[in-house]
Amino acid sequence: MSKKQFEAESKRLLEMMINSIYSQREVFLRELISNASDAIDKMYYKALTDESITFNQDDYYIKVTADKDARQLTITDTGIGMTKEELEDNLGIIAKSGSLAFKKENEIKDGHDIIGQFGVGFYAAFMVADVVTVWTKALGSDQGYKWVSEGADGYTIEPYEKDTVGTTITLTLKESTEEDDYDSFLDEQQLKSIIKKYSDFIRYPIKMDVTEQKPKSDEEDAELEEVVEEKTVNSMVPIWKKNKSELTTEDYEQFYAEKHYGFDKPLQHIHVSVDGNIRYNAILYIPESMPYNYYSAEYEKGLELYSNGVLIMSKCADLLPDYFSFVQGLVDSEDLSLNISREMLQHDRQLKLIEKNITKKIKTELKKMLNNEREKYEKFYKSFGRQLKYGVYSDFGQNKEVLQDLLLFHSSKEKKLVSLAEYVERMPEDQKYIYYASGESNERIERLPQTEVVLDKGYEILYFTDDVDEFAIRMIMEYDGKEFKSVSSGDLGFESDDATNNTEEETKDNQELLDHMKSVLSDKVKDVRISKRLKTHPVCLSNDGEISIEMEKVLNMMPD
Ligand code: ADP
Ligand code: MG
Repeated sequence: MSKKQFEAESKRLLEMMINSIYSQREVFLRELISNASDAIDKMYYKALTDESITFNQDDYYIKVTADKDARQLTITDTGIGMTKEELEDNLGIIAKSGSLAFKKENEIKDGHDIIGQFGVGFYAAFMVADVVTVWTKALGSDQGYKWVSEGADGYTIEPYEKDTVGTTITLTLKESTEEDDYDSFLDEQQLKSIIKKYSDFIRYPIKMDVTEQKPKSDEEDAELEEVVEEKTVNSMVPIWKKNKSELTTEDYEQFYAEKHYGFDKPLQHIHVSVDGNIRYNAILYIPESMPYNYYSAEYEKGLELYSNGVLIMSKCADLLPDYFSFVQGLVDSEDLSLNISREMLQHDRQLKLIEKNITKKIKTELKKMLNNEREKYEKFYKSFGRQLKYGVYSDFGQNKEVLQDLLLFHSSKEKKLVSLAEYVERMPEDQKYIYYASGESNERIERLPQTEVVLDKGYEILYFTDDVDEFAIRMIMEYDGKEFKSVSSGDLGFESDDATNNTEEETKDNQELLDHMKSVLSDKVKDVRISKRLKTHPVCLSNDGEISIEMEKVLNMMPD
């Protein structure tokens, strides 16, 4: 039997492949710019081993130009170029990456600067273009070539006289329709913002002819005229790769604003460079105030994720635990296994490592703030303290190691927030438990009859006024070997001064009164008892069992 070839509408197949890989069309520019950057990097690597090549940084750049009339977008680079063979192999064969081969051939282990590896990015151009033309001349070659393609139907190559080494790629954009707008890719502002978004930290200048209104002369009321000037639109060196000592708080604040991480000023920035098992740089921000939509479903937690300065994901949720969901910023790592679209990651092992690491850093930083900049920390705690307490509660107490030291509560002692460490440190020697009282507000708690005996002993009481407080504390169970105890619990863990008195007798003497009270309150209480807890108050409510009255209130409010 003879084997038959599969037939496929290759043009449609290519379109399907490309459109299923990328969720957004605009990334075509990211891909072409990344290729241009790779081509310059290759020049740089060649220069390292070949003395006849000098790499003069100023000679290397990428230029993006738009021609509205011709509906053409052009990306030019002064990189290594392609030979005829390379054109055929690298652009003629889908999923063949010349860059990956280059890294292997040249044994560039640390070739982490070269971005390409999958051999599909180039075809992203066909998401927006009907025709793609490539003019190129390779390093060390006297002949240039012109490659033209309208998609997977094929391509043509012919010799072309090109003066300089490098590559120019021209996209003839598709016609816009009512649903699909391609014209925006010819718009100066639009192009600038796409470049800023994805390729801001490409290490070579990306230049554009930028139109500006400028006064015709130095005179104050001089007329304005339109001037076109070539400008570099990318920042090139990412702030996170700069030396910390070169950066000021203002630099970090400006970056925060530029990135729209928040409308406030960040309360704290954290700049991390890790060079261990997994290498990454991160800039993290703790905002001062809660984003307006923080507690709504619309709020998305996550950090920006970069691979080698190229944006991969705008909100990578896996990089932050929920209890630190307020943290903003970015992570850049060379060690990620990207999938073909660069939009997702193949393995999350590296991400997990980074997440763990970052979580630790944030915690350390917050603890430092708590110890050294109390006022600042309390500002933070006002905005996000609740989130930390939810964190303790939500993971069945697994997070408590990270979070318990960051919690603050009001207390009977100083009418201010205290940490568990501070509480324990000043406990009188004979005090065995950490006491707390739950209530709607500090004032309400202060009026609780149950607090009296504890305060009389000279013990401090933590005030739990947040719904989640008691739930969180139940997860923590103990701190520094001291268990938590509600002032309303049956056994307070110390002998009150008159506990030796026999309540049994008094109960007997007052049985009739107790029975009467119980029958009047029959559907409201389970029992009425004589208590030795009370000092100045005639009566108090107390509960049996694990769930306190306050907790019960919260639970009752929850939807079934
Ligand atoms: P990748 O970048 O993942 O290798 P692409 O489809 O983006 O895949 O590009 C395929 C190959 O084409 C590249 O690996 C590179 O060898 C070659 N190439 C693409 N653009 C250029 C360019 N501007 N200059 C030189 N070579 C290029
Ligand atoms: Mg590429």
